[in-house]
Amino acid sequence: MELYNIKMRASRTRADLGPGEQSYGEHISGAEHIVRAEEVPDLARELVLRAQKHSRGRPDFINIKVEAVPEDRCLHLQALPVRTLACRTPQEGLATACQLLREAGVAQPEAALQLMPLASTLRGAMLLDADSLARLEPDQQRGVRATSMGRAEVAASAASGKNHYQEALVLATKVAHAPGMVAEICISDDPDYVTGYVASPSLGYVRITCMKEMGSPHGGRIFFVRGSAEDVARAVHYIEHIPVLVENLPETPAQPQQRAKAAQAARPEQAAQTGQTGRSPRISLAESCAAPAPQGAAEQARHNAAGEHQPPAAGPGAASALPDKWASIREGLARLEAQGLTRTVRDMAAAPGHMVRCAGAERELLLLASNDYLALAGDARVRARAAEAVRVWGAGSGGSRLTTGSLVLHSELERRLAAFKHTEKALLFNTGYMANVGVLTALCGKGDVIFSDALNHASIIDGCRQSRAEVIVYAHNDMADLAARARKHAGRRGIIVSDAVFSMDGDCAPVPELVAIADRYGFFSMIDEAHATGVLGATGRGATEHFCCTPDSMPDIIVGTASKALGAEGGFVCGRAALIDYLTSRARPFIFSTALSAAPVAAALAALDILEAEPERVAQLQANAAFFCACLQEHDLQASTQSAIVPLIVGDEARAVQAAARLQEQGILLSAIRYPSVARGSARLRATVRSDHSQEELVRAAAAIARVLQELP
Ligand SMILES: *Cc1c(COP(=O)(O)O)cnc(C)c1O
Repeated sequence: MELYNIKMRASRTRADLGPGEQSYGEHISGAEHIVRAEEVPDLARELVLRAQKHSRGRPDFINIKVEAVPEDRCLHLQALPVRTLACRTPQEGLATACQLLREAGVAQPEAALQLMPLASTLRGAMLLDADSLARLEPDQQRGVRATSMGRAEVAASAASGKNHYQEALVLATKVAHAPGMVAEICISDDPDYVTGYVASPSLGYVRITCMKEMGSPHGGRIFFVRGSAEDVARAVHYIEHIPVLVENLPETPAQPQQRAKAAQAARPEQAAQTGQTGRSPRISLAESCAAPAPQGAAEQARHNAAGEHQPPAAGPGAASALPDKWASIREGLARLEAQGLTRTVRDMAAAPGHMVRCAGAERELLLLASNDYLALAGDARVRARAAEAVRVWGAGSGGSRLTTGSLVLHSELERRLAAFKHTEKALLFNTGYMANVGVLTALCGKGDVIFSDALNHASIIDGCRQSRAEVIVYAHNDMADLAARARKHAGRRGIIVSDAVFSMDGDCAPVPELVAIADRYGFFSMIDEAHATGVLGATGRGATEHFCCTPDSMPDIIVGTASKALGAEGGFVCGRAALIDYLTSRARPFIFSTALSAAPVAAALAALDILEAEPERVAQLQANAAFFCACLQEHDLQASTQSAIVPLIVGDEARAVQAAARLQEQGILLSAIRYPSVARGSARLRATVRSDHSQEELVRAAAAIARVLQELP
């Protein structure tokens, strides 16, 4: 589909401007739409006519600009649901608008409306903080202009004259999807048009039939937002630049409704009469917003106007009354895209190593994003053992560990892991994720308490949630905060849980202190060594080795995974025999999932053999991490780590993604980490080093990172 953005600006000559500058003359009217190629000529004509007949007066400069828009850049959004509220006077209309704004989350709507005369002088909209009403437009003379949008379907009658209603709905739909948008209020500046609207993601598009006196040329538009300065900048960028196509637009406005009750809404005349009796026009807005169930002509039209994305109706009759179940998914995707939070997978085409090649690409990239810290995933001995295991044992295990899937290999690996971590026993899970969920849900339930570090891994967070225990989040690595909270709950059954190495920041938890606090107040201590195993300690045994834990200061529960430094797959829990026996009978992810197949188990065994025989790999990894940080510091970058993870905080999500993309162009692959993996506004580049990176490679990577971060706007 060929799409064009067509833009009209009409102005009056200003004596102080030269002939070439008249597009900056006194503004009269403007419009902008994205349309299909075949609609361009009619619309251009229509826009010129509209400019010539504008009630603000005759322009002597009309500029029409037509630009191609690549369709794959357009977001597709579903039109907001529409309601119309009948009001007889501007006072009534404005009071209704205030009530709606308050419901959408605007703190002082009356005070905001006082700013409307000022808003009416802007070409664009006024942008206000929803709480403080502080003005946030980057340019306060101009305001924020919602542009670059259109309807996804070809209009039934493209040049049928002006359709305030559809155009406004397209704009309101785009604006409502802006990140941080709370609500919008709009009053037309057309003297002949007194209907205005309030729109918000929660209210939908609510038309109010009288917002000003007939004949008044004063209108205006205010957007209310909430969020950080970065969020606001993102919202403005989206509103002004991201092309949007709106689907399922109703042809005609919804019939007015005075009250929310369906019976009256269906009979507008009667509803209007209710208004005329002088009874309070105040309606329960909450009630009327709760369920915008399709009803009336407008809703019908909305459904009839279904585009090609609309799934077919389920059966005769019934389906038209149901909302489109896919709408929330489409809108969710559009919102993610607008916020720079869409995630996609990237396939690698080459065997694992410190150099990789993305599928479809020619070039090899230096990999600074791998958890295969010790280069064991590609080690010939590990591969050979895995291949041999498949030859002997087959590709799949065929059952869960407690039915028929347990192989002698599984038990052998459990014995090896227990010995490696110096605990009595170990239990294998399919992944580290499942190990965390399994432990937390087996050991804690309703009435219990879990103390969880604020930056713990998602699998711990999910385990906490699924356990239904009370979850108390303590400040990151803040043992004083933890101790104070633990003291208050001493005597309850519970767990203190922390990443040993934090997966996004690379710092270590103070394990001995954590264990001491747990012991003092009678809680279990649990640490997740996913990024510590094979990385910390002289022989890679993890945080317990790094901190020289004695039997007294060993955590009760050690979780780990073979999927990182061990280059294989499979989560595990190490601890006392009683703990492991209990988990064997109670941990649901262990019980209800098919056992790991032989290949990853054999690979992990081979990796442990190598790790024990070649502890110099761990030393090399630790030296590389320190060397890489020193290189970055030489470029004046703040870089430090206690592990093999080096975070470089960028802040803005889009900027982090851009930096990673530029580095990829320069032959370096590392990850941009964004919300929800880290807090909003703390997006970062996350580099991980490996034992097989050469110093020369790390020097080159540090220089490239410094250059890209410097060049970025
Ligand atoms: C990667 C990771 C996990 C999950 O391990 P998998 O084996 O990949 O499921 C758990 N905890 C932390 C801290 C991690 O970084």
